[in-house]
Amino acid sequence: MSTRSPTKRHAATGSDLQVRWLCGLSVSWSGWVVLRPGGRKGEGMTVLPSLLSALTEGSVEVIDLTAPLQTSTPILQLPEPFGQTWPFELAEISRYDDRGPGWYWNNIRTGEHTGTHFDAPVHWATSRDGEDVAQVSPGRLVGPAAVLDFSDQASQDPDFLLEIEHITGWQDEHGELPEGGWLLYRTGWDTRSSSQEEFLNADHTGPHTPGISVECARWLAEEAPILGVGVETVGTDAGAAHSFEPAFPCHSYLLGAGKYGLTQLRNLVRLPPQGAVLIAAPLPIVGGSGSPARVLALVQR
Ligand code: MN
Repeated sequence: MSTRSPTKRHAATGSDLQVRWLCGLSVSWSGWVVLRPGGRKGEGMTVLPSLLSALTEGSVEVIDLTAPLQTSTPILQLPEPFGQTWPFELAEISRYDDRGPGWYWNNIRTGEHTGTHFDAPVHWATSRDGEDVAQVSPGRLVGPAAVLDFSDQASQDPDFLLEIEHITGWQDEHGELPEGGWLLYRTGWDTRSSSQEEFLNADHTGPHTPGISVECARWLAEEAPILGVGVETVGTDAGAAHSFEPAFPCHSYLLGAGKYGLTQLRNLVRLPPQGAVLIAAPLPIVGGSGSPARVLALVQR
């Protein structure tokens, strides 16, 4: 199951994708080659000034997809006898007082998988020898994103599952999923994120939150050209995925294939179906299975 070569292949083209997507221009293949790293210096230098102008003028907007990180930020809760992640906590060191008259600072205490966060391959037993979060190549943290909106379906059915047919139907309308990029799965669940209870939506049978079917998770891991899946819910798997076969298929298949997860995203409603550039920035925790992450999107207006 350790099929990490496809993801390595994407890594080699990551910079190319960045240039093309950041540029937002239809660069011809021949012009495009010039912009590649190692190409003639100077010609490629127009890309970043163009991007900066677009950001200043507002023709490229930066959208924050990150949930605020605080003690009330919803976290996963597992049934007994499993270990639990910690909520985020601040512990004050000093605040312009005897402990430090001129400065304010805190210690923080948090789980790796608290709030908007990044799942590294080593998080799952299907990828024990896979990358930890510090080993993820920075070139893979910037890439194109497709946004698939199934918020209507999820509002009707909190256990809604994304199927392969949903994705192929979406592709008929919006084009292929981006190579070396993200599938961002919008369910409207971010509107519940101010309440742990509404966010986890659990009853005596367990949590009920939308996710991805077993077949679709396997297809995304093995067939789709993406490098990861991002969701609005507390984890990439459905609330009921503990009862699937295999359990937690999104974690099992995607991380097992060396791909990544992003959770608890918000503001996906502000992104186009295609064309946004995603910047996912987890902390490089050495040996870490994941990390809280700041996730930003660049969108052309
Ligand atoms: Mn996680």
